[in-house]
Amino acid sequence: MKWLEPIGARIVPANYGPMRDFNAHARIDGTCGDTMEFWLELDGETIQRASFTTDGCETSMACGGAAAHLSHGKDLAAMRRVRPIDVLETLEQPDNEEAHHCADLALRTMGQALDDYERSLHQAEDSCDNCKGGCCEECEEDCAERAPAKKDAMDLGTGAGGIQKRILVLSGKGGVGKSTVAVNLAMGFAFEGLRTGILDVDIHGPSVPKLLGLERERLRMEGQDLLPVPMGGLKVLSLGFALKPDEAAIWRGPMKAGVVEQFVKQAQWGELDVLVVDCPPGTGDEHLSILQALGRVDGAVIVTTPQDLAVLDARKAITFCRTAGIPILGLVENMSGFHCPSCGTMTPIFRADGGRHLAKELKIPFLGALPIDPDVGEAGDAGQPRLYRELGFGARKAFQPVLQRLMKVVEVPVP
Ligand code: ADP
Repeated sequence: MKWLEPIGARIVPANYGPMRDFNAHARIDGTCGDTMEFWLELDGETIQRASFTTDGCETSMACGGAAAHLSHGKDLAAMRRVRPIDVLETLEQPDNEEAHHCADLALRTMGQALDDYERSLHQAEDSCDNCKGGCCEECEEDCAERAPAKKDAMDLGTGAGGIQKRILVLSGKGGVGKSTVAVNLAMGFAFEGLRTGILDVDIHGPSVPKLLGLERERLRMEGQDLLPVPMGGLKVLSLGFALKPDEAAIWRGPMKAGVVEQFVKQAQWGELDVLVVDCPPGTGDEHLSILQALGRVDGAVIVTTPQDLAVLDARKAITFCRTAGIPILGLVENMSGFHCPSCGTMTPIFRADGGRHLAKELKIPFLGALPIDPDVGEAGDAGQPRLYRELGFGARKAFQPVLQRLMKVVEVPVP
């Protein structure tokens, strides 16, 4: 295909220029100062046509054209999986930093146009009588509740096929103890005799290797398959195994979602009773990719601390679950007060009960409140998560109800 062709005085791709009848649109100002704009026409889940404009360089122009070309006839989910490298391969362009940046900008703009389309679908299907489709602030939660469950967008990979229950652990923001809860839950399940896996796809800071003392572990592969590391009754797979110590994951935008998705799909778990997935904080493309790659999710546990800011972000995570049709198993309030080991009293360090109030307000189960416990931090640093059985009385006692409530969910057979 010829990517650039003369139109009047300009050399542009054939799919250059605004579209008249479009139903999705996005415009992004890249960090380099270039602007990219996409128009899409979709029918159901399928992209019929795409066009774009940019004020950027020739490579931006070519990348926009290639991204628009690649989208034709693709369904939404498949388009979200296209990576910058795919765009550059289409153009037979080497993957250097500048070209990568242009391809990334094109795909991010495309991704936002797809978000725009999905938002408008949601508003059309769930328009409330109050705001006639705009989803006003007052009714946002109600509308999210009524949102239809998203279709399982992909077949299950064989790697996820033998897993009975898949539980996501989510938080609105980082540092609230999401990984600590995920790891201790997984250890707790394994200790109860369940065949358990923990998958750490927290692309912003995979901490499961540290929490489990597996920092020296490297990614084990057999062909394209990723092999979890066995640890007693627990199997462990972390994005951290693919990174060198002290290395930061610097994948951007759609690349992040692609990496996460590949990781979930290529994992070979064998037969598991339960898989606990430690997700990245927040809600974004990576989360949609995790959902798509897992195919079926049985529920999510939301972790928050009691402060207003954390609770505000936890609220967004709950809205995300409701919109995506993920059952919410409940909310854990971590660092909810300081349990003094000498006198046994509980001192609220942050605003008391923020998570409990949120659970009540949004009518989701409150799984429990875990105190700040120096033992928990030390055990995490030492790679020995023992919250589920051995730690100081306060934290262990507090974690038991959380574990027992979730055991009930895990033990119910899949319908
Ligand atoms: P997140 O996954 O949300 O980023 P982590 O689970 O990595 O958070 O926890 C962040 C830090 O806080 C870790 O050092 C962890 O050991 C510590 N921590 C988590 N929960 C507690 C707690 N209840 N008491 C004391 N320290 C905790």
